[in-house]
Amino acid sequence: MTETNPTNSSLIEAENRFEMGVYPKRGISLVRGSGSLVYDAEGKEYIDFTSGIGIAVLGHSHPKLAQAISHQASTLLTCNESFANNERARFLTRLAALWQSATSTNGKIFLCNSGTEAIEAAMKLARAKTGRKNFVAAMNAFHGRSMGSLSLTFKPKYRERFEPLIGPIARVRYNDIESLRSAVNNETAAVFLEVIQGEGGIRPATQEYIKAAREICTAAGALLIIDEIQSGVGRTGKFFAFEHYGIAPDACTLAKGLGGGVPIGALIAREDVCAFKPLEHGSTFGGNPLACAAGNAALDVFEQENLLEQAATNGEWLAGRLRALTAKHPSIVEIRGKGLMIGIELKSESKPVLQAAQAKGLLVLSGGDVVVRLLPPLNTPREVYERALGILDAVLP
Ligand SMILES: *Cc1c(COP(=O)(O)O)cnc(C)c1O
Repeated sequence: MTETNPTNSSLIEAENRFEMGVYPKRGISLVRGSGSLVYDAEGKEYIDFTSGIGIAVLGHSHPKLAQAISHQASTLLTCNESFANNERARFLTRLAALWQSATSTNGKIFLCNSGTEAIEAAMKLARAKTGRKNFVAAMNAFHGRSMGSLSLTFKPKYRERFEPLIGPIARVRYNDIESLRSAVNNETAAVFLEVIQGEGGIRPATQEYIKAAREICTAAGALLIIDEIQSGVGRTGKFFAFEHYGIAPDACTLAKGLGGGVPIGALIAREDVCAFKPLEHGSTFGGNPLACAAGNAALDVFEQENLLEQAATNGEWLAGRLRALTAKHPSIVEIRGKGLMIGIELKSESKPVLQAAQAKGLLVLSGGDVVVRLLPPLNTPREVYERALGILDAVLP
């Protein structure tokens, strides 16, 4: 883009002309960000409670992250996994320690570049480990859009024109123990679950459901794989959201917030589950030093700024303030979620609320048709929350 003074509409026009049309645009551009605020090409400021779909956990342009990326860019960008690297070794060590402290088991890690790749790796690992072919996934689940992960994703609109996908997939009702019990058998390689469904509308699993899922999988010899791509990396107040449930999955997937904004994904599995043989899986960019340096910087900031604590306390406080709005806004059905993964379920469509909030300077997401989804940066200050609450109060029906 060489245009000297681009406008929102000139940028959107250019993208719409050359992109494949899979991303409906929201009518503005974003060209700059700082903390929990972003700015469009015309200089208008927005509070960003999307974090680019839960990615910018440290906020935008965090100086420690920017410095780490810049340092690594002038040190070593490329080092494929045939060669060891200092940033990768450190990042793997820290991820394994987080897994160990959450599950009391030793973990092994496969690094990749996105959420869907982490799910693909998990599906392959489950088949390799169990020698079984079948998978179980939940209604309203979202696990990604490549052919394997898409098979697990629920929405028929996302799947139908691309079939046949990977199968067989048994589809179960979420939070329904009997539905799960009757779907899992000695041909099930793995059950994939989000402990809080994200795209599906911020739907938390019950304690009993996740505990039962653990027992059902163990009894059937199937792997329980928790998809933490949206709920992980501190979003709910714990590094892994499954920690709220007191269970240890056999494997979990991470991505979105893991690099603080830089693309990276990971599959972490208990040591004895890791059945891959050399060269059975891989990724050209996986574990690249830039992404690992970003991951390390993000974990540093998590410690320095106490982000798990901030997500837990600010999440609870924000949910409380939103609940206080329900009396004034008859359209609100329910406020739900955990930490800074919050859904506002409405009686009406969420889209007009997204548009009205955007016009007043607040960016939020939808989660399904009737849920407004809030995924703020984990270090958002209280005064920004106050401003956002004022806008939501003004625009919620
Ligand atoms: C976003 C998401 C994915 C897919 O991640 P991509 O990086 O877009 O491939 C998978 N699972 C969950 C729970 C997600 O939120």
